[in-house]
Amino acid sequence: MVYGALDIGGTKIAGALVDAEGHVVARAQRPTPARESAEVLMAAVAAVLDELATRPEWASLSCLGIGSAGPVDTFAGTVSPVNIPAWRSFPLVERVRSHPAVPDGIEPVLVGDAVAMTAAEHWIGAAKDTANALCMVVSTGVGGGLVLGGSVHAGRTGNAGHIGHITVDQHGPLCPCGARGCVERYASGTAIAAHALESGWTPPAGLPATAREVAASARAGDPRALAAFDRAGRALAAAIAATAALVELDLVVVGGGVSQTGDLLFAPLRHHLKAYAALDFTRDLPVVPAGLALDAGLIGAAAAGVAASELSRAGAGTRGRTAT
Ligand SMILES: [Zn+2]
Repeated sequence: MVYGALDIGGTKIAGALVDAEGHVVARAQRPTPARESAEVLMAAVAAVLDELATRPEWASLSCLGIGSAGPVDTFAGTVSPVNIPAWRSFPLVERVRSHPAVPDGIEPVLVGDAVAMTAAEHWIGAAKDTANALCMVVSTGVGGGLVLGGSVHAGRTGNAGHIGHITVDQHGPLCPCGARGCVERYASGTAIAAHALESGWTPPAGLPATAREVAASARAGDPRALAAFDRAGRALAAAIAATAALVELDLVVVGGGVSQTGDLLFAPLRHHLKAYAALDFTRDLPVVPAGLALDAGLIGAAAAGVAASELSRAGAGTRGRTAT
């Protein structure tokens, strides 16, 4: 038995067949024609499915999960990825379901990319065997997902755990989402670089002003670069403490490009968390790096597909599934 997975991102459309242990046994990939029409984009998805369908394992396909850059509406089965302008409320689930290579009876399951990452970490990564976890992706933006009571909690439209848009400063800067002082305005790679620049930091000659360069300067002891990471860690800590107070977490997992800077982010995060997570039941919350890197999106999409098909077999309703 294999699980099918699609991972829709702004730069690539990836597909995989994943075995019952979470190993990728076959993969296919196309560049995302992000500036093209909705149908050209769909043709790239179809090409990935067609290539996977040539594999002998395809005959034992038991489910198909789709992880996509957000926003997604898993209830409606639609995607509107910020970086893919031609897809707005695009009915991806219906289009994948009706693709000729997809066997009858396979009901595609859509999740957002942060929820997919959460499902992957819960299945075989750092949150394995953890009942209550917050998994975060700190990258160009800040995303997240929740494991509650031993299963991924995606919410009705698949957006639960959206920690990047929790307000941590009521009077903070406006966020593109419409709110103020969102975590993402402090902790994303973009925000870290912007804050460093505002405080007078400049990237080495010829290099771009990115979080990667800020990290290099921080490692060399530049106080402005260190301050930008401290500010990011503080915002993340406040949001994590709030989440812990709401749902009682056992573990926090942090992945994504910015988390690759290691202690530059984790040290201030853990330091500030001590101050913000002050209630007994929120104290000493472990914060660990993600266990999966490159394939988390695909493995998580497969995991979401498995979870939904098991729920459906158990007659436990349609949580995490799309409307049928
Ligand atoms: Zn926001």
